[in-house]
Amino acid sequence: MKHYDLLIVGCGPVGATLANLLRQKGYAVAIFDRETDVFHAPRAMQIDAESCRIFQQLSVIDRLVGKDARPSDRHVFVDENRKALMELRMHDLEETLGHPAPGLRFHQPALEHLLREDFRNDRGVDAYLGYEVLDVEGEGDVATLKARNTESNEVFEFSSRYIVGADGGGSLCRKYIGGTRVDFNYSRRWIVMDVHVHDDDLWNGLIDRSEFMCRADAAVVFVKGCNNHVRFDFEVTDEVAETFTEQDARDLISNYFDTSSIEFQRIAPYHFYAGMPDKWRRGRVLIAGDAAHLTSPFSGQGLNMGIRDAANLAFKLDLVLRGTVSSKFLDSYQEERWNHCAGLITGATERGLMISRKNFLGKLKRNLSFFIGHHMPKMAVAMTAKMSNQHAYKDGLLGEHALAGNQMIQPHVETPDGNQILLDDLTGSHFVLLQSSPVNSTHSDWFEKELGSSVLMMGRDFKDVTGKLAAFFEKHDVTQILVRPDRYIFHAGGDDADLLADLKAGLSAYD
Ligand SMILES: Cc1cc2nc3c(=O)[nH]c(=O)nc-3n(C[C@H](O)[C@H](O)[C@H](O)COP(=O)(O)OP(=O)(O)OC[C@H]3O[C@@H](n4cnc5c(N)ncnc54)[C@H](O)[C@@H]3O)c2cc1C
Repeated sequence: MKHYDLLIVGCGPVGATLANLLRQKGYAVAIFDRETDVFHAPRAMQIDAESCRIFQQLSVIDRLVGKDARPSDRHVFVDENRKALMELRMHDLEETLGHPAPGLRFHQPALEHLLREDFRNDRGVDAYLGYEVLDVEGEGDVATLKARNTESNEVFEFSSRYIVGADGGGSLCRKYIGGTRVDFNYSRRWIVMDVHVHDDDLWNGLIDRSEFMCRADAAVVFVKGCNNHVRFDFEVTDEVAETFTEQDARDLISNYFDTSSIEFQRIAPYHFYAGMPDKWRRGRVLIAGDAAHLTSPFSGQGLNMGIRDAANLAFKLDLVLRGTVSSKFLDSYQEERWNHCAGLITGATERGLMISRKNFLGKLKRNLSFFIGHHMPKMAVAMTAKMSNQHAYKDGLLGEHALAGNQMIQPHVETPDGNQILLDDLTGSHFVLLQSSPVNSTHSDWFEKELGSSVLMMGRDFKDVTGKLAAFFEKHDVTQILVRPDRYIFHAGGDDADLLADLKAGLSAYD
């Protein structure tokens, strides 16, 4: 039986991200997928600024932007005749996380290829592709897993300290954990169509946007993607779903553009649900990504939630695997992530129901809010961002300052050798105490050696070239900010000894 630090079931984008985050920390990771290659058609098309920041840590974002990702910020809600009811341009949103605030439109297969490429560049991850996981067990002193080679049918056994199931909507690991499904009241049938446009002139002429046609029980979502890919989602009744043909798809698309040069990559019926199991962990087995939460796709958050799971879990598994904290600390994963996801799923459900409203009063309310949004675009943009962006963590490993649970901003800073880089590239991916001005720091071996963390002082270790950090410190009336490895703020204040003592107490609360 081969032994690893961590076994990951499912090499979709979430599993592959987690594998890379732990590979960077030097752990031995094995990842399993029943498929040998990435899924050929995109599903997610939008990564938000926080996901970009996590991919920045993996040096993926620079390789993705250009051909396979670009900023995209225009959302248009239209009536049945494609007349605009409200247009949202998100470009005015302030960039605070080091990446465009509305995030990037991207090509999912390209992202997944990049994530897998990094397994090969480094010995940290063994990728068992073409292996179906049959069974997991997490109650003993080690976790175990059985996987079948899909070609030879041979079954192999593996053991590890922990197993993470990033095995998608039909998750075997979720079934192992058990628990009850919490329903978020969205359950509708859609046909998802992925189209490749061969004619470059036609492709270049398509306006870059996501368009939502509001229509009772027959809403349509149209998104211009990357690499000549266009997505149409078409809401259908059960009867239409049974009989939908390629000709129906072509007829629908011909309302948008000439279909003579298009090729279908897939036409697939989907049942979009919104729900989460109430348990994300049993012993040494945890779940992440679609295995842990399903949402309607209308806020573009399904994958983003999973990428955040990976960043949250990576830092916690690192501390547990190192023996710095007890395994109980892994309970804070669900404490933090569950409510966060619940907020986003609720927003996505509202948006999904809004575009296919049937009753007169519901439609009237929606059209009224669009009318207001159309005439006060700045307010509408701010409201939409609030609905689909990350909320702050309220529970978990957090201090008491009002900033705790929010994400740390990420401006550019200048290093002592004169390079301008993004803040995370300076801090690295561990706890960091940022200090706004020279103060008499108390040196802590526990913080710097045991936790492997660092203290960085503005003016001494880097220059705040944009002035944004100083302004942030001033706005919140603090001189010290203690940031977690997943870039969320643990605590802030004026006395470093107090902050470190609170962190120590926060971690020991999980003993
Ligand atoms: C139409 C549509 C549009 C979307 N748009 C967006 C968007 O714009 N933004 C966004 O953030 N999200 C979006 N999403 C959601 C997003 O695509 C998913 O949340 C994301 O792909 C989930 O990633 P994952 O890694 O958790 O799971 P998956 O991508 O499903 O990967 C799971 C992997 O596990 C493997 N697996 C499963 N069981 C086993 C087993 N027993 N043994 C071995 N391997 C196994 C599977 O083969 C698969 O490769 C959209 C989804 C859809 C359907």
